[in-house]
Amino acid sequence: MPSATNTTVVKSDDISSGTIHGAYGFRLTGVGQRLELQELSPLKPAPDQVVVKVAGCGVCHTDIGFAFDGVPTRHPLPLVLGHEIAGRVVAAGEKVAHWQGQTVIVPAVIPCGECPACKAGRATICRKQFMPGNDGDGGFATHVVVPGRGLCPVPDKLPDGITLAALSVVADAVTTPYEAIRRAQLGSGDIAVFTGVGGIGGFGVQIAAAFGAAVVAIDIDHERLDLAAQHGASLALDASQMNDKDLKSAVRSFVKQSGKSGIGLKIFETSGTAAGQTTAFSLIDHGGYLAVVGYSPRPVEIRLSNLMAFDATARGNWGCPPEQYPAALALVLEGKIALQPYVEEHSLDEAPQVIEAVHEHAIRRRAILIPPAH
Ligand SMILES: [Zn+2]
Ligand SMILES: [Zn+2]
Repeated sequence: MPSATNTTVVKSDDISSGTIHGAYGFRLTGVGQRLELQELSPLKPAPDQVVVKVAGCGVCHTDIGFAFDGVPTRHPLPLVLGHEIAGRVVAAGEKVAHWQGQTVIVPAVIPCGECPACKAGRATICRKQFMPGNDGDGGFATHVVVPGRGLCPVPDKLPDGITLAALSVVADAVTTPYEAIRRAQLGSGDIAVFTGVGGIGGFGVQIAAAFGAAVVAIDIDHERLDLAAQHGASLALDASQMNDKDLKSAVRSFVKQSGKSGIGLKIFETSGTAAGQTTAFSLIDHGGYLAVVGYSPRPVEIRLSNLMAFDATARGNWGCPPEQYPAALALVLEGKIALQPYVEEHSLDEAPQVIEAVHEHAIRRRAILIPPAH
């Protein structure tokens, strides 16, 4: 029957080209506007792209910056936000067909792999990098199209208590502090200090403890400090009750008691606040190392010459190169980084309310948006 043949031909074309119909996402149409549910036009991967069916997408501070604070996205609005994505590849272009069916974490920043920066091993500063929810539609959606490179494969069978959706936070909140800690060459002889132990810092504390360091957590929030103390921090200091001088002397006596021989504190600024940055800088001692992990648009007043006087180092990192993802994921799968106490799951369909609640600090854990099963 000709008509049936026609239908079959159209359908099989669709399957072989892997076009996904009926996907939707929540787009930001303007700064301060409520996210808008929009149907995505049929998703067809280019030869080097894949379509990922989203299992979960974490809501990051950066999304709040785009949605409410006027931080410009590189791709003009309207745009689906979200760059902390885990899911399954449901369509793959011909050059990357080997990803078909694989469960993956999509790195928050996917370098091009070919430019001078990438070739020099500095993939995180690639100027042709792709960030979902910034350079193109992101993960606050049922499906997302991303480059078919740098993806981090996730085993099909996960340990009890770990879901693919929860692994979305590995894409940024876990890997960014992981990379900062790796660059700091943190080891078992070291003392690691974290200023700010929310999502990013909370994972940082656990990673540093897994590397064998003695860990100090500093925050102004009791609940966060308690959680850090349960998950890797040997000393928790409440910065709402202590000035920078008190914090410094408390850290000094901890160093003495710890018996650690590491030269200089390794300090990780994970609060992304001006106060946290000032505290972190004030803790730099002889041979100290400061990693700037959190972001704040606000300037701070510091005595930069302390770096010279203490022969100290300060550096930052923009995300984490994809090749480091499997090692960070392994720490989670081995149970060395607990995700569950730091995340909470919400339906994707509540995206507009959830992002507003995160903006208003009504949601304190890292929110993960989960598309309804269909
Ligand atoms: Zn982020
Ligand atoms: Zn590049």
